[in-house]
Amino acid sequence: MGFRFLVPVAASILVLFFFSSGTRLQHKSVLSTYEPDVLVILMYHKVNPDPREGGLGLRVPPSKFDWQMKYLKTRGFTVIDMDSACFYLRYGRPLPPKPVVITFDDGYRDNYLFAWPILKKYGFCATVYHVVNATGGYNFFDADRGSQPRSSMLGWNEIREMTASGTITFGAHTLDHRPLTKVGPEEASRQIFGAKEVLEQELGRPVNHFCYPYGDYNREVSEMVKAAGFKTAVTCVRGVNHPGEDLFTLKRIRIMGNCSNRKFIYMLENCYKTAA
Ligand SMILES: [Zn+2]
Repeated sequence: MGFRFLVPVAASILVLFFFSSGTRLQHKSVLSTYEPDVLVILMYHKVNPDPREGGLGLRVPPSKFDWQMKYLKTRGFTVIDMDSACFYLRYGRPLPPKPVVITFDDGYRDNYLFAWPILKKYGFCATVYHVVNATGGYNFFDADRGSQPRSSMLGWNEIREMTASGTITFGAHTLDHRPLTKVGPEEASRQIFGAKEVLEQELGRPVNHFCYPYGDYNREVSEMVKAAGFKTAVTCVRGVNHPGEDLFTLKRIRIMGNCSNRKFIYMLENCYKTAA
């Protein structure tokens, strides 16, 4: 069989392939109202039943958190970890339907006491962005300026236990929860590099993910985070993420304690709807 014969055969196969995949895509877009290329990152802080632990801005009661996780579990969402999210956003690696990443900011002890048991119940993984110098202490960055009551923070033993489970990933939220665009480049660098170094030393594994305190960042700060060796960074900018976007300015959907079940459904389902 000569080369001259093979060329038209190969060309016909290629034409058939493109034709059939094109038909499939067209068919899918007609049938589905869901945006296939969306990654949602949920942002939580405290999960705690005690009103003395703060208002519903940062505190979601465990019963409500349980309801929300149950909704994710039973309504076709797929909870993935930040590493999988990173692969997806960078390389477009396909993900299961309606992917969600669950994140917690600051590293409150109630994440261990209340959130983790609920996450375990549904078999979910999550990322906790931890303020390194608050370990085993209290939320000095908020409590000392009177914006929040004193709350206990995770200790190293709890952090190690959660890490060893393989379901909770710890990311860095700086050493002292400083606003990084306002403290000067030297201090910002110390906060970013220092947090990574201490967490990696204590956990004995790479720490790949970062969260800007107060969602405060600019180009200089995000370049520092990149230079420190982090692979992603999350902001407080509200929105969803698509493959190919900047991995150091990831958007999130903040869930507050006063979010009704109805609002939760509406917000979440809307994230995946196509704009059309
Ligand atoms: Zn924070």
